[in-house]
Amino acid sequence: MTKPVSDPQFITYMAAFQAATEHTATCESCQDEQPCPVGDPIHRVFLAEKAAWEGEQR
Ligand SMILES: [Zn+2]
Repeated sequence: MTKPVSDPQFITYMAAFQAATEHTATCESCQDEQPCPVGDPIHRVFLAEKAAWEGEQR
């Protein structure tokens, strides 16, 4: 089943994805997969939201 894009869980996931992508795009440390102090919490939130979203899809 495809969920509507208005799904709040999906919107939160996409917001976290965008935040992580935007930070990584401007951060050499995070591009080397060595999260900086600023990027680390952003990536954590993204991974948590990703896991929550994928968990809902099962
Ligand atoms: Zn960073």
